[in-house]
Amino acid sequence: NLYPRRVLVTGGAGFIGSNFVHHWCNAYPEDRIVVLDALTYAGNRQNLATLEDREQFKFVEGNICDRTLIDKLLEEEAIDTIAHFAAESHVDRSILGPDAFIQTNVVGTLTLLEAFRHYWNQHQQPDHYRFLHVSTDEVYGSLGPEDPPFTETTPYTPNSPYSASKAGSDHLVRAYYHTYNLPTIITNCSNNYGPYHYPEKLIPLMCINILLGKPLPIYGDGQNVRDWLYVLDHCRALDVVIHRGKPGETYNIGGNNEVTNLDLVKMLCRFMDELASHHLPVKPSMDLITFVKDRPGHDRRYAINSSKLKTQLGWAPLVTVEEGLRQTVGWYLTHRHWWEPLLSEEYQAYYRQVYA
Ligand code: NAD
Repeated sequence: NLYPRRVLVTGGAGFIGSNFVHHWCNAYPEDRIVVLDALTYAGNRQNLATLEDREQFKFVEGNICDRTLIDKLLEEEAIDTIAHFAAESHVDRSILGPDAFIQTNVVGTLTLLEAFRHYWNQHQQPDHYRFLHVSTDEVYGSLGPEDPPFTETTPYTPNSPYSASKAGSDHLVRAYYHTYNLPTIITNCSNNYGPYHYPEKLIPLMCINILLGKPLPIYGDGQNVRDWLYVLDHCRALDVVIHRGKPGETYNIGGNNEVTNLDLVKMLCRFMDELASHHLPVKPSMDLITFVKDRPGHDRRYAINSSKLKTQLGWAPLVTVEEGLRQTVGWYLTHRHWWEPLLSEEYQAYYRQVYA
């Protein structure tokens, strides 16, 4: 069903949301895209700057907990699809202060669901309406070295306040399909990387610290394993799920690239040394690697089985981890004007608390 859609993208000024908005505007110039974003510390309108003049695009600053605003936006913009990215997304911050995670991730998601349910009923429950809830593989907990990857039926075992809040929101989204028949779909995705990724997250943090000649802090023994997915491969998966996914279903999305944190950082050092050797304050940048006290409750391994999405909807990732990481390293190298202003006093204070 590839007719023009009118999409409300929550959290569209964040990392994945903004990549998704770029993808969608380029792929579907006939569609309407309305971004709703509260512009928290993680939201950045610069991420969308090149789209601001397009007629199909509109930015609204506002909170997903604001029911009046959402009711108004759904009606005024005749929305048929919600792509819900807005969240507090950083595990370390959820350990320092979980309240905002419950508020946005659980209460905010409930507010959106309620608004969409009423709106969908008022419009006689059209078949093509969709509520896509973008979630994480962290809801499934931690794997041992020999465990098979997570599937859509793996029981939920969230271990951090972040993953617990995302699990809560997933359960609500699922319940709205079963109870009210609301056409919701959930996706659970592995770790993303790519452009516009806020500096606190592992890959941008390492790229930026290499460029600044600062220590590269690695939690514990560096042997925690993550499955890395290039953000535009994720956006293509979400596109397929919105157009062809089945309401009530969950789809796992992963890159099939399990890498330990230490190996990942070594790769980033190698690529940065190759691309930017003459700019680097410390060479080789691997000399900057420093092991720090582990994150409390740090999940050991995540791995995800995406065969349902592959076999049922025909999606596969296109970018290898080597290619994607090289491109990302290149992006941070050439986008100092993007990340430098983000290293604010507030950010430095957060950084000192986490890596004290
Ligand atoms: P992000 O932190 O970069 O962006 C979140 C965006 O949501 C920001 O623009 C922020 O301003 C906005 N926001 C926060 N609270 C809001 C509120 N109350 N109302 C309106 N807007 C609000 O996050 P991200 O990495 O882009 O993640 C997007 C989604 O994908 C999240 O739901 C996250 O749980 C999920 N996810 C992320 C990853 C990953 O690797 N980054 C992996 C799997 C799933």
